[in-house]
Amino acid sequence: MNKVLVVEDEGPMRRALGISLRARGYDVDLAESGAKGLELAARHHPDVVILDLGLPDIDGVDVARALRGWSSVPIIVLSARDAEAMKVEALDAGADDYVTKPFGMDELLARLRAALRRATPVEEAAVVATPDFSIDLAAKQVRRDGTEIRLTPTEWAVVEMLVRNRGKLVTQQQLLQQVWGPEYHKETHYLRFYISQIRRKLEPDPSRPHYFITEPGMGYRFVPTER
Ligand code: CA
Repeated sequence: MNKVLVVEDEGPMRRALGISLRARGYDVDLAESGAKGLELAARHHPDVVILDLGLPDIDGVDVARALRGWSSVPIIVLSARDAEAMKVEALDAGADDYVTKPFGMDELLARLRAALRRATPVEEAAVVATPDFSIDLAAKQVRRDGTEIRLTPTEWAVVEMLVRNRGKLVTQQQLLQQVWGPEYHKETHYLRFYISQIRRKLEPDPSRPHYFITEPGMGYRFVPTER
């Protein structure tokens, strides 16, 4: 049974999450504060953490940072619609994904399953295939309709980082720092340019991307699902 730790100060929300998750067979711990959440995480070693960012005692971003100090447990943050900057900060601090309030339980459960899947240590597939193209991470090769698509080294670096984190939101900061280096953390126009190049080469309809998804103001996500 997967253990979920929910850190949420709002009583009704916390209880609703507890009921829904238990009904789906999860073993649930509920914490009403950041301090309690950290304590339960250390004691029970959850498989995934659902973390509200607006907490009364410790900032949710700091809770994520504290968890990352000793644990690689997947963290899904819950945030208010107007808290974009905080979401980005939480993702940069090591959170894996986010859900914006108000959210549907189905959406949260889907994110939860995806986070647990990613956390399961399976042999990483070297080839990621979609109905339109395939990416061989070991050979650094992209093929579309049987033909090799040539990517520039920078395009490849962006594609590789997104594909290795498939399903997961990768922030602009993470991409810029990883691909270009720490001094480029503000150059988001680089990303817009390279992502549009990548879409032009790989997406069936580059103006309506299906695989390389923009999360406005936050980052990008590679979604390898079937159409
Ligand atoms: Ca709250």
